[in-house]
Amino acid sequence: MKETFLRNGGYIVKKETIFPFAEDVRYMDCSCGRQVRNVGENAESVKCSRCVDSNLYKQFGEEYEQKQQYKPTGRPAGWHFMNEFVDKDGNVFHKGVEQPKLKGTLEPTKVKPKKKVKRKTKMKSWLLVIKKSWQLKDN
Ligand SMILES: [Zn+2]
Repeated sequence: MKETFLRNGGYIVKKETIFPFAEDVRYMDCSCGRQVRNVGENAESVKCSRCVDSNLYKQFGEEYEQKQQYKPTGRPAGWHFMNEFVDKDGNVFHKGVEQPKLKGTLEPTKVKPKKKVKRKTKMKSWLLVIKKSWQLKDN
């Protein structure tokens, strides 16, 4: 059994030196190159969690993506509290309650993009400039 495991590309770590410490741990590499820990000796091949994820994604596509995404709607924060909000599909909401009769009768509410992120990157590039000028002084 052990021979078959090794022939399939598996390998055994006698003593792990990093957490979680264990002995004789069976490993095998996923086709993408990632190590998978604690593989059964009968395993012919393994898939790491990432590849399992991407396989699931291929299988269920958009449905899966929507489940995983934190904010799939594209609606702004606080849209529940707006007197009237129209999403990009034309669904109309009054204080967060859908109004099916009004669907498609109004223009989608324009969502203002957040500018905070941009400011941050500007700060970062400024820091880089300052750092560089320091380095020049050192030389
Ligand atoms: Zn993988």
